[in-house]
Amino acid sequence: MPEYSIGVDLGGTNLRAAAISRSGEILDKISGTTDLSAGRDAVVGDIASSIRAMRGRARNSVLAGVGIGVPGFIDIEKGFIVGSNNLPGFDDFPVRDEIERLLGTRVILENDANAAAMGEKWIGAGKDVNDLVLLTLGTGIGGGIIARGRIVHGFVGMAGEFGHMTVIPNGNPCGCGNYGCLEKHASATAIVAMARMLSLGSDLTSEEVYRLAEAGNERAMMCFRTMGEALGIALANLINAFNFPLYLLSGGVLAAWDRFAPPMMEQIRLRSFTFRNTQTHVEKAILGSEAGLFGAAYLPFVHLKMDR
Ligand SMILES: [Zn+2]
Repeated sequence: MPEYSIGVDLGGTNLRAAAISRSGEILDKISGTTDLSAGRDAVVGDIASSIRAMRGRARNSVLAGVGIGVPGFIDIEKGFIVGSNNLPGFDDFPVRDEIERLLGTRVILENDANAAAMGEKWIGAGKDVNDLVLLTLGTGIGGGIIARGRIVHGFVGMAGEFGHMTVIPNGNPCGCGNYGCLEKHASATAIVAMARMLSLGSDLTSEEVYRLAEAGNERAMMCFRTMGEALGIALANLINAFNFPLYLLSGGVLAAWDRFAPPMMEQIRLRSFTFRNTQTHVEKAILGSEAGLFGAAYLPFVHLKMDR
């Protein structure tokens, strides 16, 4: 019988799931909302019933397992979410084991940016390489590292938190306790905050700031130049650390690529000897918001011969 797996993307707002074949074809898809107001157990119940529904419709195939991507730190060994502001009530709750118990199938829990990196590696912009880094630029900045085709977890599961790399020694304060974190200078939220500080408007979206820049507004252009420089500093550090062939960026703010990429590439060239002397590529990811879903679904296939 053909084999498939189910990927789940559990966000603070949306709950999406897809049944995906071994060759990367989407067989079935469910998208709904994460009803956090109904409580944690209701959300876990929604996940289980989505999976059950898809399983029921795929009776002629074998389910390899379920992968779940979640925002926040993951304790990979325990299957816990550690400190997720987006999913109140899930902290230190054995979500992996609970869903395994409800479904009687193997479940793998993964950080959403790691899952997205795996998705791009499987069938996205990274399918021709074995080693890559993905940065997801959104409200914050997430990161995922794929080395030799596998996610790099670190000893607990917290590797790849590039949003909290220091890019400006005394930069903007961050909720993590540090100053000058990458996500405080290069995320969509950072663009909005800079626009506010520059009196462009108090509640502009990053798209609106982009449109102002396109219309020739100098201060709006400055927001994207600052963002590009911060990203370039971070990427130069990553290139120097990993010597991987590919670094991918994803997120809605990629629409502003033509604005932030030139100062970003300038900083990379300036700060990375490795970049200047190798065929290193910095590119746009291509799967968009589907990357995490594909990556989560791929996990049961790639971890088939491991216990986790
Ligand atoms: Zn931080």
